[in-house]
Amino acid sequence: MEIINRRARMSSLTRKLRRENKTIGFVPTMGALHAGHLSLVEEARQMCDIVIVSIFVNPAQFNEPKDLEKYPRDLTADAALLSEYQIDYIYAPETSEIYGEGFSTYVYVENLTETLEGASRPGHFRGVATVITILFNTMRPDYAFFGQKDAQQVAVIKRLTRDLGFDTEIVVGRTIREESGLAMSSRNTHLSAEERSKASIIYQALRRAKIAAKEGERNAVRLAEIVREKIESESFAQLDYVAVVDGETLEPVEKIGENAVLIAVAVRFGNVRLIDNTILNRQP
Ligand code: AMP
Repeated sequence: MEIINRRARMSSLTRKLRRENKTIGFVPTMGALHAGHLSLVEEARQMCDIVIVSIFVNPAQFNEPKDLEKYPRDLTADAALLSEYQIDYIYAPETSEIYGEGFSTYVYVENLTETLEGASRPGHFRGVATVITILFNTMRPDYAFFGQKDAQQVAVIKRLTRDLGFDTEIVVGRTIREESGLAMSSRNTHLSAEERSKASIIYQALRRAKIAAKEGERNAVRLAEIVREKIESESFAQLDYVAVVDGETLEPVEKIGENAVLIAVAVRFGNVRLIDNTILNRQP
């Protein structure tokens, strides 16, 4: 396993690997690795000849400077974790390596980025789309791995990959959860022990809706209510939104039909904002 800091080196290395007909799998992360990230790494390891994990806390996707400042950074600990997964390269560039002097080109994915997380975090997806475009351009991976936990991000990345003609297949890994059902996230460490145990209400609420849908509930408003009622039963939790939307276009749906439908929530526990989701009619 080698740690690479320079974009030019990452680019020439992946060019060489492509010439050798190696399949390249790429797992983009912001570090502070947990089992959610590592499950993507495992999947990449199984599917690809070469696995590259990037660790880059991307300033362009933070709309709150305080969040950026307090984002956990520990490359040594992350590298130690990754060394157990037989990955080939860690790409850990400095900010100036990604956003050079005079940087002024951003990628904006229309329609998918104004709602849900985009509404609460203006500019977030512009930052995500821009950095992923730069990273894809540098490495030209055959496969790139993203977590279902960030469902809107998945929709945005799939759209941008198609629109910009990247020859990269997007692989989506299931959400990895703590034993309580709480989706793993670097933000969970900011929760108090009590908040952390109560935050499992999010998963319970999503499961209720999923079971109701399985039992025949087709009405999206009713499904949203099921989630809302359960989350609001927990006084520590402050529901930011619950949305029932098409899994690809993220347009609101009224009736659950044949297409994949996403039930997405954002919930605050104190200062910590958590997101989670479940998918109905998951496509194979
Ligand atoms: P981040 O470091 O937060 O940017 O996340 C890097 C990748 O890990 C993204 O594709 C996330 O969707 C994914 N990820 C984060 N948390 C989880 C989780 N609990 N389960 C599966 N994937 C996750």
